[in-house]
Amino acid sequence: MTSTLPNANDLWFLPLGGTGEIGMNLNLYGHSKAWLMVDCGASFQSPLDPKDDSNPKAKTYDVVAPDASYIEARKDSLCGIVLTHAHEDHIGAVTSIWPNLACPIYATPFTAEVLRRKFYQKGMYEDLPIHVVAPNTTLDIGPFTVTWLDITHSLPEPQAIKITTAVGTIFHTADWKIDKNPVLGVPFDPSVFHSMSKEKVLAMVCDSTNALRDGYSASEKSCENGLGKIISQAKGRVVVSCFASNVARLITIVKIANLNGRYVALFGRSLENMVSIARRCGYWPDELKLTHRRHIGYLPPHEVLIIATGSQGEPRAGLAKLASNEHRDCDLDEGDTVIFSSIVIPGNEKPISKIVNTLKSRGIEVIQSESCNETIHASGHPCRNDLIDMYGYVSPQVAIPVHGEAQHMIANAEIAKTTGVPKQLTGKNGDLFILKSHISIKRNFVKAGRVALSN
Ligand SMILES: [Zn+2]
Ligand SMILES: [Zn+2]
Repeated sequence: MTSTLPNANDLWFLPLGGTGEIGMNLNLYGHSKAWLMVDCGASFQSPLDPKDDSNPKAKTYDVVAPDASYIEARKDSLCGIVLTHAHEDHIGAVTSIWPNLACPIYATPFTAEVLRRKFYQKGMYEDLPIHVVAPNTTLDIGPFTVTWLDITHSLPEPQAIKITTAVGTIFHTADWKIDKNPVLGVPFDPSVFHSMSKEKVLAMVCDSTNALRDGYSASEKSCENGLGKIISQAKGRVVVSCFASNVARLITIVKIANLNGRYVALFGRSLENMVSIARRCGYWPDELKLTHRRHIGYLPPHEVLIIATGSQGEPRAGLAKLASNEHRDCDLDEGDTVIFSSIVIPGNEKPISKIVNTLKSRGIEVIQSESCNETIHASGHPCRNDLIDMYGYVSPQVAIPVHGEAQHMIANAEIAKTTGVPKQLTGKNGDLFILKSHISIKRNFVKAGRVALSN
């Protein structure tokens, strides 16, 4: 019988979200009567029972979070929440779950600012124990020595986390890809991860999202050529829809617009929020000017570029309003171009195709990354070759694939095996991965579940 608290000889990994699914990541590490949480994210448009994930008839909720009652019942042993980056699937549930934990939160400046604004939106201004740590910092948090490490992904300040304890070291990759030219931030540096091999990393807990894809993940820089080509050839207005947090992409788009004599306006509150945070954190180049959206409707079409939210077909976002000609600041006309600088996230096919069809029926050209010959979107996650390289650099004793559905995690484990990682452990939310004193999994150690944060 395993006691409910790890002792000084134990090192445990207990995922409550994000293992067996893509979304709502919540990871717990246990050692010496203490727990450390890494990330606390949300999922969107999901059913409460994971078994219903592929059932199109199941009731879905706008926002769901992992059921954190296991750690809430043990909050006195929780040393803190460490955040890897500011994507919703990593920080989206903090404002809901943290009030039941009241522990310190550790994040780099950009992530901390995104989080702070989320708390403000909920009317929570005071006594927020958010500790801002610089990238590449090392801190002792309870019995864990935590090191933030610059890695490359698809937003500012993505961090991998190295957790060192008296009985072993864990490398938690969080979301990553190998990007030698990320446009914004520090290029991927193999030496950082290679140097870890000397420390005999016990386990590497690793992103599986693109493990089924061959080759290397595309660099963020590669979008510049593709978007540049399309935008320079467009005749009327250009609308580009992309993920608001991809500040590098926003910078690329504004630069291309400026080169082509187009003024840029942002349509969507999350875009305005992200650019404002990027400015505050020093990531927005001063020379890149934006035009207020109220002015954009008065300009000749060939001088207009709109960056809009809603690439996933969200009905209230900027793009949906432009498609149905209900945006108060601008009407689109025949001959205009809409570019989806994004992917179709599985589950969003229907609302996206509704918008695409409406636009096409109005004579507006629609360009989607999936069917475009040019690179206009780059994923932030590792493909097969990125994974092979990283396993080669780190040489962990155990590979633990996470951030994926079963098929992605199995593919990731297979890659680890062929790369020479001696052991691979695949499991799902609620399974306890025992890494010390012996290596094993206790299946269904905690009943993993989801809670609805809104309807
Ligand atoms: Zn991410
Ligand atoms: Zn993620």
